Amino acid sequence: MTSATQHYIGGEWLEGAGDAIPTVNPATGQGIGDIAIGTAEEVDRAIAAARAAFEGGWGRSAPAERRKALLRLSQLVAEDAMELGRVGTEDSGMPFSLTTGEAVFAAEYLEFFAGWADRLTGETIPLNQTEVFDYTLREPVGVVAAIVPWNAPLSLTIWKLAPALAAGNTIVTKPSELAPLAPARLVELVAKAGLPRGVVNLVHGTGGATGQALIEHPGVDKVAFTGGTETGKHVAATAAKTLKRVSLELGGKSANVVFADADLDTAAYQACWACFLYTGQQCIAGSRLLVERAVEEEFTEKVAGAAGAFVAGDPMQPATQVGPLISERQLDRVLGFVEEARSTARVLAGGDRPGGELAGGYFLQPAVIGGVTNEMRLAREEVFGPVLSIIPFDDEADAIRIANDTPYGLAGGVWTNDVNKAHRVARAIRAGTIWVNSWHGLNPATPFGGYKASGMGREGGREVLASYTETKNVYVQLR
Ligand code: NAD
Repeated sequence: MTSATQHYIGGEWLEGAGDAIPTVNPATGQGIGDIAIGTAEEVDRAIAAARAAFEGGWGRSAPAERRKALLRLSQLVAEDAMELGRVGTEDSGMPFSLTTGEAVFAAEYLEFFAGWADRLTGETIPLNQTEVFDYTLREPVGVVAAIVPWNAPLSLTIWKLAPALAAGNTIVTKPSELAPLAPARLVELVAKAGLPRGVVNLVHGTGGATGQALIEHPGVDKVAFTGGTETGKHVAATAAKTLKRVSLELGGKSANVVFADADLDTAAYQACWACFLYTGQQCIAGSRLLVERAVEEEFTEKVAGAAGAFVAGDPMQPATQVGPLISERQLDRVLGFVEEARSTARVLAGGDRPGGELAGGYFLQPAVIGGVTNEMRLAREEVFGPVLSIIPFDDEADAIRIANDTPYGLAGGVWTNDVNKAHRVARAIRAGTIWVNSWHGLNPATPFGGYKASGMGREGGREVLASYTETKNVYVQLR
C-alpha cells in the first residue's frame, strides 16, 4: 500500500481500518490499488485534527503565512504536473493532455488565491450615532468538509482548498471512491509544502459511509460539495440539521445556441468539444446543441463530420482527445441513452464501443444525435457521457425558451456574429456561466456556479471568498 491509498489525518498517513475497495483503471478495467472506506471514527479524528489546527493557530495566522504556504504548494503542483497527470489519467481515464493541463491550472488557481490571503478586508460603516465607531471583520468559517466527484478530481479539490485555506479555514477532504488517487497525490504535496499538521486532512471512502459521516458531523462548519443534483439535495438537507454552511456545485444540461449567422465550421467543431471533452463527463457539457432551423441540415452535417475527429483512444497517448467513461456502470447508463435514441431520434455519428485493444476499457465512440426534441429524456436528463443532441429552433425567442426549459442552469453558449443578439441571449439564458463564440473558458478570477438545480453559491473569483468567511460587525461606543 502506498501513501496515496491511506488516509491523511493530523499530518500522518494512516492505514484505514474500514473495508477495502478497489480503484480501477477505466481504460483497462484492471484494478490499480485499494482504498479503505473511512469509518465514522476516522472521520471524527480527521475533524478533530482540523479543529485543533484551526484553533491552534491557522485560523488566526498572519495572511503572509497563508500566502506563502499556498505559493509553495502552487510551485510543487506545477513541478509535479506530469506525475499528477499520470496518476490522474490512470485513475480517471481522462486523457493525459487534460490531466496535466488540469495540474497546471490547479497551480494557477493556488497562486491566484494566495494573493487573496491579505486582501480579505472588512469595512468601516458610518452610523447616525456619531459617538460610535463601527467596522466589520472577515473571519474564517472554521472546519470545511470538501466532497469531490470523480470527473476532474484534482481541479475540483483545488477549487475548494485554495480559497478555504487563503481565508484561514482548515479542511477535511473526501475524494470520490471512483477516482481518489490524484487528490491523494495533491495531499502528498501539501505535506511537502510544510503546511501545519491538521490544516489539510484526507479521508478516503464511499459517499454513503464516509461522506455521510462528514455531512452529519457537528464538528464541520461548512460543506463544500461538488457532485450530482440528487446527492446535493441530500447533502443540503442533512447539513441543515446542524445548520452547516453549504455550497453546492451540481449537474447541468447546458444549451449551446448556434444562430444561422455564426461561423458554422468553427461552431460545429467547438460544439463537439463543448460536449465531448472529458468524455462528456463534465457538469458544463454543452449537451443540448440548439441550431437555427434555417441552417439545421447544413450545420447538422458539419457537426456529424466534426465528431469523426474525436476518436476514443488510449488516454496515455498524447494525441488522444477522448478517453473511457469512468466505470462499467456509467458506460451502461450512457449506452442506454444511445439505444433509446436509435428508436426515438437519429444516431448520426458514433455511439458504438470500439473493439481491439480498447475492448477491456469503458470506451464509447462520441455520438451525435439528430431529430431530438426538448421533451425527450435525452434532452432533459444529464447523460454524463459523450452524447450530443441537436435540437432545432425557429428564432431568438424560441431559442431562449428552449434553452431555459430545463431544471438546470449551470452554463450556456451563444454563437452569432451579431453583437446585439449575443448580449441579449447571454442575458436571457438563466445560467451561471455564458460563453459567447466559445465554450469552456474558465479562470480562477471568474465566478462559477449554477442557477436552479445546478447548485448554490459560487466557486472561483472574489465571490467564492464570501462562502469561506463569516462577517463580524464590531460596534464600539466611544466615550
Ligand atoms: P455523486 O453525487 O455521486 O458523488 C459526488 C461525491 O459525493 C463523491 O465523493 C461521493 O462519494 C459523495 N457522496 C455520495 N453520496 C454521499 C452522501 N450521502 N453524503 C456525502 N457524500 C456523498 O457525483 P459523481 O457521480 O461522483 O459526479 C458526477 C456529478 O457531479 C454529475 O452530476 C456532475 O454534473 C456533477 N459535477 C458538478 C460540477 C459543478 O461544478 N457544478 C463539477 C463536476 C461534476
